[in-house]
Amino acid sequence: MILDQRSMESIKVVALQNAVEHNGKAKAESVTGKVAASNPEFRSNLKNILPTIRETVMEINALSLAEQRLLLERLRESIVTHTVDPIESLHRSSSPVLPELLNASYGSVITRFPPEPNGYPHIGHAKAAIIDEYYARTYGGKLILRFDDTNPLNEKPEYYESFILALEWLNVKPDIVKNTSDDIEILYKYGKKLVLDGFGYVCTCNQKKIHELRSAGVECGCRMDTQRSGDLVNEFFRGKFDQNEAIIRYKGSMSDSNTAMRDPTLFRIIKGNHPRLGNKYNVWPTYDFAAPIEDSLDGVTHAFRTKEYELRNAVYFAILERLELRKPIMMEFSRLEFRGLPVSKRKIKPLIESGIVKSWDDPRLPTLAAMKRRGFVPQAIRKFVLSLGMTLAETKPPFESLEAFNRKLIEPVSIRVFFVKDPVEVIILGASPREIILRNHPSLDLGSRKIQVCYSVYISQADAIGLSPGNEMRLIELYNIRIDDIKKEREKLTIVGSYSGDEIKPDVAKIQWVAKDDARAFEILIPKELYLGENYNVDSLEIWKGVCESYADGLKPDSKVQFVRMGFCRIDHSGLAIYTHR
Ligand code: ATP
Ligand code: MG
Repeated sequence: MILDQRSMESIKVVALQNAVEHNGKAKAESVTGKVAASNPEFRSNLKNILPTIRETVMEINALSLAEQRLLLERLRESIVTHTVDPIESLHRSSSPVLPELLNASYGSVITRFPPEPNGYPHIGHAKAAIIDEYYARTYGGKLILRFDDTNPLNEKPEYYESFILALEWLNVKPDIVKNTSDDIEILYKYGKKLVLDGFGYVCTCNQKKIHELRSAGVECGCRMDTQRSGDLVNEFFRGKFDQNEAIIRYKGSMSDSNTAMRDPTLFRIIKGNHPRLGNKYNVWPTYDFAAPIEDSLDGVTHAFRTKEYELRNAVYFAILERLELRKPIMMEFSRLEFRGLPVSKRKIKPLIESGIVKSWDDPRLPTLAAMKRRGFVPQAIRKFVLSLGMTLAETKPPFESLEAFNRKLIEPVSIRVFFVKDPVEVIILGASPREIILRNHPSLDLGSRKIQVCYSVYISQADAIGLSPGNEMRLIELYNIRIDDIKKEREKLTIVGSYSGDEIKPDVAKIQWVAKDDARAFEILIPKELYLGENYNVDSLEIWKGVCESYADGLKPDSKVQFVRMGFCRIDHSGLAIYTHR
């Protein structure tokens, strides 16, 4: 039987994993069982596949344990990169391999990405989603996208949609999409059980008192009175209480040195219009309660989250223990942050609400919508995120390293064109009109364009002010000019020069230009760091006004260009580009 490449790879991965787990010797029977378990489509065909499995096992057993490990890593990596664009595979060499999972066998891993739909996703979410997906694919398992939508005051349909679109863009494909709110009745059931079993209680203390007792490590009267909680719990879930009148708390330990265990809140009353369920429910679980139960019931085997939740792990496992539910393995990675950028919905939202930043795709933001608009490609984000690995270190990676991945990917598709900021006219004497053909890329075939140059071109003011009569300059790809005169009329500069030959001279400044007859008004948005230290950077969005070639202005939105002597940009719409990076 001839198997396709994917099936062959999945057999190899299972065999290698089996070998690595058994001191270098895989067993054909175990491998067959595992292959059948994880590939239902093989089950009716096992007899035909058996010879291939035996052969693969023999080949693999002939390798050393170290070689097997290496091969397993490579193969996993290549399986993951299959899901991305061919450009990605061109640059695969720097893709690292994340560490192996504990207690994971091929075909049985389930991971989940659990965002709250209370804003747009940012590059930190890309990190989490890509790592979740990496493990699901590497182990032939499943990825769940679960919207943790349990606070109706914060969530909106637009935000759910923004995550769906961003994941599509990143080429992260969840196998299952669900919402925590789908399970609200189930969560109620477990909440009641916890209270009735004596592991939780209805607390009617006011917020101030709760806060004070928690700081002091002292229990309140509600906690002691098990009978009262048993009586109140049904009323609580039926909506008897008003906002802030009562909560359900976990009976942890009020003297625990881990303050997360000092009777954390499990349910609270929130009166608001939920984007999916409307006004039907007023009792909402907290993240502390919903996350472990959802993970457990969804079959999640390996749950990843950022390190700042570390102290909450005790709550997570205590709840599952009390409810006798299966416990996933929890793994942490560091939160992704950049200097001068708010990589958090909580920090971005106020900027938008206060009007400091106009929209979620403002190019200064680290949201994925903004990064896309700015000209980052999803493969660069994937490579960057995987290059960070699973470290727990709280260091901020330099934004330049993300730019480096992006540059490598967009360089081969970016058209080289001329943009001139604050144009100054140069009138050229002694040259006959010329038609020149400019290549769109110096070494790759991205086409070319024709330009007519008569007697006048624009150069940028920054270049013009460095010139004096007698100087020579070269108009890139055209010819040399000697400056005869520089006129200034009411702050407006005009340069008069004469044609001085075609020869490229090493010590003559080479300047980009735009022919007057071909010039189109054009602007470039330049995003800079939003914060300087703790303060908002009032100059974080610069606008460069000038002219560019008609060819560049005719490019479709989303085209990538490299403005010569300036940097890479993405065409946003006619007349406007956004600066990506140098
Ligand atoms: P935010 O402040 O952006 O709302 P959050 O942690 O509350 O952050 P969620 O939407 O609840 O965001 O997070 C979904 C997943 O994405 C979580 O697993 C979380 O750990 C992860 N995540 C969020 N922000 C980052 C980040 N900056 N770096 C890495 N992972 C992140
Ligand atoms: Mg959150």
